[in-house]
Formats: sequence, C-alpha cells, structure tokens
Amino acid sequence: MLLGGSLLTVGGDADGVEELLRAGLLACPSCAGSLSPWGFARARSLRTADGPVWLRPRRSMCAGCGRTHVLLSLVGLLRRADSAAVIGAGLAGGAAGLGHRRIAAGLAVASSTVRGWLRRFAAHAERIRAAFTVLARDLDPDPPPIEATGSVFADAAIAVRAAAAAAVVRWPLVLTVSVWEFAGAVTGGTLLAPSGPAMLTNTTRPWAEHR
Ligand SMILES: [Zn+2]
Repeated sequence: MLLGGSLLTVGGDADGVEELLRAGLLACPSCAGSLSPWGFARARSLRTADGPVWLRPRRSMCAGCGRTHVLLSLVGLLRRADSAAVIGAGLAGGAAGLGHRRIAAGLAVASSTVRGWLRRFAAHAERIRAAFTVLARDLDPDPPPIEATGSVFADAAIAVRAAAAAAVVRWPLVLTVSVWEFAGAVTGGTLLAPSGPAMLTNTTRPWAEHR
C-alpha cells in the first residue's frame, strides 16, 4: 500500500480517471460511498514499452466514510517497476513456454526481473486460474469453453485472457484496457503480490458498475 489507506486500480488513462472521479462515479471500497479528488500521492516512475513514464497517482476521499484512497492507474502493478502490459507480455511468453532469458532479451528487461515475475505467477498459478475462471463466468454466463493445456501456468494465463474477454462483453468501458491491465485492475494491482492476488469483489470494482 502507498501512504496507507486503500489503493484502487482504476481507469484506462489519467483523463478518464479524473472524469470518473469528478463525476462521483468511483465507489469507495470500504463503504461504497462516492469518491472525490483529494490531491495526489507521491510520484513514481514506471518502465513501459515506450520508455519510462512518470506517474502521479491521484488520491481520493470518500464522501461517506472520509477514508482516502490512492488511485493506481491501470498501467501499473503494486511494487513493480514495469508496466502491467510489459509484465503481461513476459507472462504470456512464459505461458508459451519461453525461458526467462529469452523473454528478458525480447522485452529489454533484466532476466532476473522476468524470472521473478514467472516464479511469482507460477507460485500462484492455480489460484489465478481458479479466480479468473470464476470471474469469467461471473461476467459472461455463457463463456466460450476453456481447454486445459496440461500446464497450470498456461492455463492461468488463458483464464486471465478469458476473463478479460468476458469483461469486454459486459463493460464497454473496459474495451480500452489490455488483458494484463485488466488483470492488474481486478486484483487491485496485486496480481504478482507475495501472498498471491486478491481479487476485488463486485463492490470494490470502482470502474465496473456505473449508475
Ligand atoms: Zn467510504
């Protein structure tokens, strides 16, 4: 967590987040009250495929319970220096059976960094697979069948992709979000957290349900 309070992952771009926040359309994960702009959190840099970007996460305050929440842009995961899209490309490579050195060379990222992503994803692969399979069914009652590949790692990546596809059907807003940004969003940035991903529930998907 940054600066205490909750950290939400929202929106595809900063302007979109700002718009939702100002319109009172983001819900508090603690009480479902309406969030309003409340300054900015400490800036952090993020490595993306297009080079480093400097993020200044928005802070918000809940009109209901008064708690403040940092709004982490969808492009990032908690405590990871690379964007969700870059990390996701690495995980997709792992799911395709590529080794960490080859993936690292392709992404121009240190091989030890890629190895860290793959190990963490592998350690929680069954949980990720199960959680995203449930999410896919929640979002689309009649999802296309998911075929097991024999690799839990690959199956987990396929389940993430299936849930993202189901989300596109359910929420047009998510259309602007890539598969791995979506995975970061529905886990509140915890996709590769040490204790495994914590899936956000319906009431804490701030970008999901708009009144
Ligand atoms: Zn609240």
